Amino acid sequence: MKYADIIIDISHEKLDKTFQYRIPPELEAQVTVGTQVWIPFGNGNRKIRGYVVELSDHPKVDAAKIKEIAGLPKDSVTIETQLIALAAWMKRNYGSTMNQALKTVIPIKRREAAKEKKTLRLRLSEEEARRELTELLARKRHSAAKERLLRELMEKKAIPWDMVTGKLGISSSVIRDMEKSGILAIDFSREYRNPIRGLSVGREHLTLTDEQQAAVDAFCESYDQGKRETFLLAGVTGSGKTAVYMEMIDHVLAAGRQVIVLIPEIALTYQTVMRFYRRFGEQVSILNSRMSPGERFDQYERAKNGDIRIIVGPRSALFSPFPDLGLIVIDEEHEAAYKSETVPKYHARETAIARAKMCQAAVVLGSATPSVESYSRARSGVYHLLTLTRRVASQPLPECEIVDLREELRRGNRSMLSGRLQEEIALRLERGEQTMLFLNRRGMMGFLSCRACGHVIKCPHCDVSLSLHRNGRLRCHYCGYETQSPKVCPSCGSGYIGSFRAGTQKIEEIVKKRYPEARVLRMDTDTTKGKDGHQKILAAFANREADILVGTQMIVKGHDFPDVTLVGILAADLSLNAGDYRSAERTFQLLTQAAGRAGRGEKPGRVLIQTYQPDHYSIVAASHQNYMEFYRREIWYRQMMAYPPAAHMLVVQVTSPKEEDADQTATRLAQVVARQEEEYAVMGPTDAAIKKISDIYRKAIYIKAREYEKLTDLMQRLEESFSETVAGSQTHVWFDFDPMSGF
Ligand code: ADP
Ligand code: ZN
Ligand code: ZN
Repeated sequence: MKYADIIIDISHEKLDKTFQYRIPPELEAQVTVGTQVWIPFGNGNRKIRGYVVELSDHPKVDAAKIKEIAGLPKDSVTIETQLIALAAWMKRNYGSTMNQALKTVIPIKRREAAKEKKTLRLRLSEEEARRELTELLARKRHSAAKERLLRELMEKKAIPWDMVTGKLGISSSVIRDMEKSGILAIDFSREYRNPIRGLSVGREHLTLTDEQQAAVDAFCESYDQGKRETFLLAGVTGSGKTAVYMEMIDHVLAAGRQVIVLIPEIALTYQTVMRFYRRFGEQVSILNSRMSPGERFDQYERAKNGDIRIIVGPRSALFSPFPDLGLIVIDEEHEAAYKSETVPKYHARETAIARAKMCQAAVVLGSATPSVESYSRARSGVYHLLTLTRRVASQPLPECEIVDLREELRRGNRSMLSGRLQEEIALRLERGEQTMLFLNRRGMMGFLSCRACGHVIKCPHCDVSLSLHRNGRLRCHYCGYETQSPKVCPSCGSGYIGSFRAGTQKIEEIVKKRYPEARVLRMDTDTTKGKDGHQKILAAFANREADILVGTQMIVKGHDFPDVTLVGILAADLSLNAGDYRSAERTFQLLTQAAGRAGRGEKPGRVLIQTYQPDHYSIVAASHQNYMEFYRREIWYRQMMAYPPAAHMLVVQVTSPKEEDADQTATRLAQVVARQEEEYAVMGPTDAAIKKISDIYRKAIYIKAREYEKLTDLMQRLEESFSETVAGSQTHVWFDFDPMSGF
């Protein structure tokens, strides 16, 4: 007798364990680890879906009580054993039910109908066909359609169905008729949906610089020795990291293995994949959530059967089912987008390293501004550090200048554009060069506040500032609540109420007014909503259809604009004052990446950073484009304050529609932490940064420990304690390790 341990397809803390079922003899050959099955469950023996996670020869309980697997769903997809192990690792390290973890590692849930290609083929010999044609023509009311198709088949022998019904305009009944009378046959073959068909291939091959070559050599040497290290490729902006990845990938492909390339945003997929496609051709494909289920399913199949060997995509592409994965590349590894915001809140970097370990793959992390975590690991030898210190083609790094906005105010300039920035923009317009103006974030800026009392207008449901839109209305970005802007302050009645910081729309207006002759483009979440909206704006700017591009952090990434010689950073302070331990790091990264956009062509670039804190080390270091200068200060601060990577942090998030339920649960969990023998540093419980979203109250406890395992142990204890208590069924607990964003 064979038994299977099964995880049922219901995400609930109480059902988060395996259940044993007997495998009926007729299914034994088909049921393996990873198979989806139908099982009877509960009192009514309702049939539900489950995943086999382990097989054994022995019953764990009285064999007579064990139920039998009822069958296999027709639409199921087997998940590899390895991905199941990875799901278990994620559950343990990030906190989730096994079912949630399995759902995360299975990019698609069910089998999609295969797409078929139909081809018509002539079944007659030439001789027979000619006779048939003569007979056809001799008939009184002969069919012109039949004649046309027969002539076409005599000439071409085989024609795609779509062409026959389309271009030749022949109905399917005529085709069936001819099939019946044995004139033609219809051949079926599987056609895989290919989301990136028809790109131009032209082998992109660059002669590497010495630095690039040294990085590639170090990788290949290690790889050939079978070491399977994690590498950190730290290369200044424009140093040609992608060319380095490509050589590394080539090396791994030559060993017959496959590669996953992760990029931080779906919006960047197209331009990245173009570059890889030019080099590797049809072996490359993409996987992301914007693709249709059919497209995704087919990429999944193509990856399994060896049709494609490189997958490019965002975070979730990490779970591509390659049978012999040899390398995972993570570009812009510092990006917050690599951290999942839904449970399990995994980090793609750590998860990639865990997957790589399971299949003896190497990992390459690349960035111009590595995360403090990765850099400290590279310094201590956990990762293998590779550096690129120079730009390709020896373009100099741009000149950076810090503009003190306090000075501007003293001089009576209240505009968002400092005197220096105005001069430099005017100069660019004169010379016919391009300017990028970069603003941290939209929502943060266009709020309404009172100059008399400081009151800020907030959403009554979500406790966040409402954003001012062009039509004069205020809107909540979380729940969509809208209201008219008040004319007087609702708190003190003063008339000094207004929006003093502008969003990208406002900047666009100011710039247009100041330089009426300039052509201005804006790129933010509003203007990039449509399909390819992002791509269109960048293409227009690259085509020189505008002189000035105003935008949020989106403009910081991708694309080389050789004519951009000025980058203006309008308010560096906004990210600096975001109020979490990563603020300085994020500011340094944003400023460095933004500055890296300037002077990518022949002409030298200039960067102006406007700020109220001109002495802050993240701003000064960014102005020097000097990562080490930033890192030394930052790691010191992290060590002093025991923030990651010096320690690890676990955020326990409690949510409930009833504030007192959330309060009680958070308080009780904090007591559980206090009772542990292990000493943990605990902050809270407190209201979350955003106290309420869509009428759900949110509390948080922040816990620090030097070792990660201490926190995963603690999490388990908190999970147990939570599931024992009878808090309102609508109260939930979530866990977030080493958070990348606020809660
Ligand atoms: P990074 O990602 O490090 O900012 P990219 O990989 O985008 O840099 O490279 C910057 C530019 O330099 C690209 O246009 C790329 O084609 C070009 N490039 C990279 N390596 C070389 C090389 N060895 N020779 C010539 N051009 C190169
Ligand atoms: Zn007021
Ligand atoms: Zn709201």
